[in-house]
This record gives sequence, structure tokens and C-alpha cells, in this order.
Amino acid sequence: ERTVNRIAAGEVVERPASAVKELVENSIDAGAGRIDVVLEDGGRTLIQVTDDGCGMVREQLPLAVERHATSKLKNGDLVHIEALGFRGEALASIGAVARMNVTSRAQGSDAAWSIRVEGGQVDAPAPAALGAGTCIDVRDLFYATPARLKFMKTARTEYAQATDVLRRLAMAHPDTAFTLSDGRRVTFRAEPVANLVGNARLERLAAILGREFRDNALEILAEREGLRLEGFAGLPTYSRGNAQHQYLFVNGRPVKDRLLAGAVRGAYQDYLARDRHPVLALFLEVPADFVDVNVHPAKAEVRFRDAGLVRGLIVSALRHALAEAGH
Ligand code: ADP
Ligand code: MG
Repeated sequence: ERTVNRIAAGEVVERPASAVKELVENSIDAGAGRIDVVLEDGGRTLIQVTDDGCGMVREQLPLAVERHATSKLKNGDLVHIEALGFRGEALASIGAVARMNVTSRAQGSDAAWSIRVEGGQVDAPAPAALGAGTCIDVRDLFYATPARLKFMKTARTEYAQATDVLRRLAMAHPDTAFTLSDGRRVTFRAEPVANLVGNARLERLAAILGREFRDNALEILAEREGLRLEGFAGLPTYSRGNAQHQYLFVNGRPVKDRLLAGAVRGAYQDYLARDRHPVLALFLEVPADFVDVNVHPAKAEVRFRDAGLVRGLIVSALRHALAEAGH
């Protein structure tokens, strides 16, 4: 059983950044208003995620770290839940390949509890101290799978990957405060955007992509056949020398899809030289059965039922906004 867990674990937890993604998504699902992440040695010696979300009661802790146990199956809505990537695997997978400590205090409870998992071995919950919410400590990632450990990149590369994960999650969740620290100083910070201040989404994007983005972005809004596209796209005059600042979110989750780069190139081709690239963040809402996010559990890849429809929607929405702006 434990061997099986370790093999499967590699699918979900490829590197520190994938563990960070899973843990922070759990904090978001728990309704956290602030999420603080600490990575030491690029996440190899320590990944710590602390949130002020709903927390867990004592009885929930052993279930939370068990494979295929999820508290997120509501109303028997399996299709919907699966489409969002709730597989009940993340904590079990991390616990199979690291030394993990989950400390939590459920909202309204006056006691915190902690559960320890080491290489898949689960201890009984023990009393602990914590204000509210959940704190998950992951130490010595991949100590139990030396083969995987060998493939870890430098601490610097892993830290950069985790920063990218956090930036994307912060773009999708403007109401939540995020920090990332290397154990000595905070290297990334996103303050919660007050709802009354203009467009919360644009404010958060500007905080992450650069202040000038606010004054150099076109609002994107389009609908077609049950798909809805929203977001902000930089003016051609606000372009970059690489395409790394083009972000796509599907149903609130950051995804990486080659389709985006192609669609953006198509829309901007009359306005930009081939070596210039716009900065943009697009948020696509689709019916759950239109997208498969579980192509590969560790990667943010998706498969659309009709990729042509998505591409067409993005291209025409961008072209329309550019034309309206007089470009
Ligand atoms: P999934 O998110 O797919 O349900 P996970 O393995 O990521 O599976 O988490 C297992 C369960 O642990 C979740 O369903 C949730 O009940 C609980 N959990 C994990 N992280 C948190 C958190 N930060 N706050 C509250 N509950 C959590
Ligand atoms: Mg999860």
C-alpha cells in the first residue's frame, strides 16, 4: 500500500511548487482571507502554508491525510467537483514522500489539533496550539523517494516556480492576502483589494503585473455559446520582449495552455512586431463538462471539448477591444 502511495504521489507532487499549489488551493477552498507561505531551501527543507480558513476538527485530520478522502463532495455533484480538480489526493501524496505536520483549529472550536505523517505513516492526532485556521509544515520533501529528490532543480529555480504559482493564484483571488517568504524576508506580497476601490480584479493585476498595467489595459468582456470571457489585456504600446506575462484562468483556476499564446498572437498580429508580446490576464468561465482539468494531475494543463470555440472567443474579444480602442 505504501509503495503504491509513493508512486502515485509523484504524479501529484512533482516538485515543491506543485505542493505549494495544492496546499494554497486547499487554503483558498477553506475560505482563507490570508495565506502565508514560507519556503526554505527552495522548498526542499521546508514548505509551510498558514491560513485563517475554516480549519478542521480533530476527527477530520486523519481523513484529510488519507488517499481519496475529500470533504468537498457536496450534493453528490461528482462531475462538477472532479472538473475543479478535487481528488482528495494532495495531502496523502505529500505525506507519502515527506515529513508533514498538519495543525488546525476549526472555526468556533477552542482547541487546536495536530497530525503527523512521515513517509506515509500516520500518527494519532495530538493537542496543539494555533489561533485559528490551518498550518501545514512539509519538511524534507522527497526524503522517502531518493529518485525524485535527484531531479530537484536548484533552490533558486524551485523558489521561482513557487513564486509563479503564487502570483497566478493571487491574480485569481483578489480578496485574499498572500505572502511568500524565504524564511528571512517576504519576497512576494499581495494585499487584499478592498471591494470599494475601483475594479478589484484590475487593482490586483496591477499590483502583480506592474502599476502601469492599470493605465495601459483594455477591459475584455465576451460571451459565446455558454462560455464567458473576462479580463484585461495590455495595449500594444505596453508590450514585452517575451510572452511570459500572458495568463489564462479557467473557472477560477490558473491553467497553462498553448492555445492562449496562439490566440493572442493572432489577435495582436496587425499591431505588434513578432518579437513583441502583450501582457494580459484572461478569465474564462465554462460549463464543468466543457473542460477536463485532470489531463495530468500535477500540471496546469486542460483539455477543452471544443478548443476552436475557445480560441475564436479569445481572438475576437481581443480584436474587438483593440479596434474599439482605435488601434
Ligand atoms: P481535496 O482538496 O481534493 O479534497 P486534499 O488532499 O487536498 O484533497 O485535502 C483533503 C481534505 O483536507 C480536504 O477535502 C479538506 O477537507 C481538508 N483540508 C486540507 N487543507 C485544508 C485547509 N487548509 N483548511 C481546511 N481544510 C483543509
Ligand atoms: Mg486539495
